[in-house]
Amino acid sequence: MRIGMGHDTHRLAAGGVLRLGGVEVSEEWHLVGHSDADVLLHAVTDALLGAIAAGDIGDLFPDTDPANRGRDSAEMLELAFQQVCQAGYHLLNLDCTVFAEQPKLGARKPLIRHRIAEILRVSEDRVGVKAKTGERVGPIGRQEAISAECVVLLGLKFDRDPTESSTK
Ligand code: MG
Repeated sequence: MRIGMGHDTHRLAAGGVLRLGGVEVSEEWHLVGHSDADVLLHAVTDALLGAIAAGDIGDLFPDTDPANRGRDSAEMLELAFQQVCQAGYHLLNLDCTVFAEQPKLGARKPLIRHRIAEILRVSEDRVGVKAKTGERVGPIGRQEAISAECVVLLGLKFDRDPTESSTK
C-alpha cells in the first residue's frame, strides 16, 4: 500500500466562474491561477503523485508552459492517475477537505464527490469530500483564498483489497 497527501491554496477573487472538484460551484467568485485553478483537483492530483513518489503537479504541468494556461484540471488529474495505474496501483480511497468561507459548499458536496469518482473511474464510496469554513479568521475566513487538502491510499492492483471485509 502507498499513502499520499496533497495541499493547495489559490487566491479568491470576485467574478465567476469558480470550479471546485471539477464542478462549477459559483458564478460570483473565481480562483486565480495559471490553469483553471481548481484547488481541490490540484490537491487530489498532488496526493496521487505523492503516493507513488512522482513529484508534484508543478513538475508535471509547469506554469511556465503556455500549454498549461487555463488548462482543465480534470485532464491533469486524469494524466496523474494514469501514472498511478502504470506504476501498478489502484485507488483504495481518498478523503479531501475544502476550506472556503464562500461559497457555502454543503449542497454541492455530492456533486463534487460524484465528479471526482467519475474522473478517477472509481465508485463514489471510495471518495470522501468535506467542507469547512474559515470561521471568518485568516485568509480563508476573510474570503481571500480557498484551500484544499487530500489524502489518498493506494493498493497494488493484484492484491486483495484490505478495506473490503474478509467475511464477504
Ligand atoms: Mg494549484
